[in-house]
Amino acid sequence: MTTILRKHHFDLPDGVIYLDGNSLGPLPRSAAERAAHTITQEWGLELIKAWNSAGWMDLPARIGDRVAALIKAQPGSVTMGDTLSIKVYQALDAALKLRPNRKVILSDSGNFPTDLYMAQGLIDTLAKGHVLRTPPPDDVQDAINDDVAVVMLTQVDYRTGRLHDMAAITARAHAAGAVMIWDLAHSAGAVPLDIAGCAPEFAVGCTYKFLNGGPGAPAFIHIRPDIAPLVNPALAGWMGHEAPFAMDPDYRPAPSTERMRVGTPPVVQLSILDAALDVWDGVTMADIRAASIALSDLFIAKVEAGCPALRLASPRDGAQRGSQVSFHFAHGYAAIQALIDRGVIGDFRAPDIMRFGITPLYLDEDDISAAADHICDVIQTEIWRDPKYQTRARVT
Ligand SMILES: *Cc1c(COP(=O)(O)O)cnc(C)c1O
Repeated sequence: MTTILRKHHFDLPDGVIYLDGNSLGPLPRSAAERAAHTITQEWGLELIKAWNSAGWMDLPARIGDRVAALIKAQPGSVTMGDTLSIKVYQALDAALKLRPNRKVILSDSGNFPTDLYMAQGLIDTLAKGHVLRTPPPDDVQDAINDDVAVVMLTQVDYRTGRLHDMAAITARAHAAGAVMIWDLAHSAGAVPLDIAGCAPEFAVGCTYKFLNGGPGAPAFIHIRPDIAPLVNPALAGWMGHEAPFAMDPDYRPAPSTERMRVGTPPVVQLSILDAALDVWDGVTMADIRAASIALSDLFIAKVEAGCPALRLASPRDGAQRGSQVSFHFAHGYAAIQALIDRGVIGDFRAPDIMRFGITPLYLDEDDISAAADHICDVIQTEIWRDPKYQTRARVT
């Protein structure tokens, strides 16, 4: 099997098998040093000069290009900043303005809640009679019709890992005259993408999951270059202005995706992300994907053989799955707590999903086998029944 193994690039605690890189990637070794450099050398010594001398102002575009390479988008079409929730809002608002005569936002019932909440909030703010439709994921393609202004989907389902067919759905949306927005939260760094080839109008995603940018890392947004000049930003911040330091009282958007910048960029977070992206140099997404599927298949086989009480929630066919494997188990929350106690870190998603991220940059076959053994032991011994594993924390 293909192994990637860049474990030495990461600072993972001894005795931990980390199966949660789909939610928060681990610490890249170079990140702390880079953050320290940004803080002490740039901020500390250069002070405000660093906006120019250390290239802080260009970070969103420069790092945007690095993300663009990973999602196969055109150079210059991605910028960084804010959180994914904000980028969803911006993309959705821009998409609706491109189709003023249509009122339907089409998503699916499996989408991550914040994407749906942002749509609901935007509908209220606009007060123009838009509606949000959320059919089951399998019915989305057939729900695309001439009423739909925008199709807004997350490619990989955060609970089950089910993968939407990006090329087919985008083509269908465009044939119906709708704008396409893809949320790549669980795709960037997980599966090979071809954003330039599929040509959705917008793509958004976060960088603290498979891209290992750290807690609070900035989000990204891509606008298809040909429509960028038509986009009228809802959050018309000064950093998205054509000339922020002209201090013009009137807003004029920057020519490209840069118009989706809002305010001051998170410089320290961007510098950490820059270091985290170095880990991907020399890695192809095709190799990552092959290793991810092989490791995931091994994991499913071992868990199913050792603990039939768990029921696979993810597609069995690797080609239909992102880079995570999930199981249904009624006592999933307690079981995950018991596993974390043993150094096997996965997470729980209500109502009953035990979720495990499969990240070939720092997981190998031995890790996967050992993790599966622990899972089966926790389930067979019912150690999860211990009262200390029952109390729900704020973050699950
Ligand atoms: C993780 C995730 C988010 C998180 O949004 P933030 O604003 O970064 O908290 C949003 N949407 C999807 C689909 C996600 O998977």
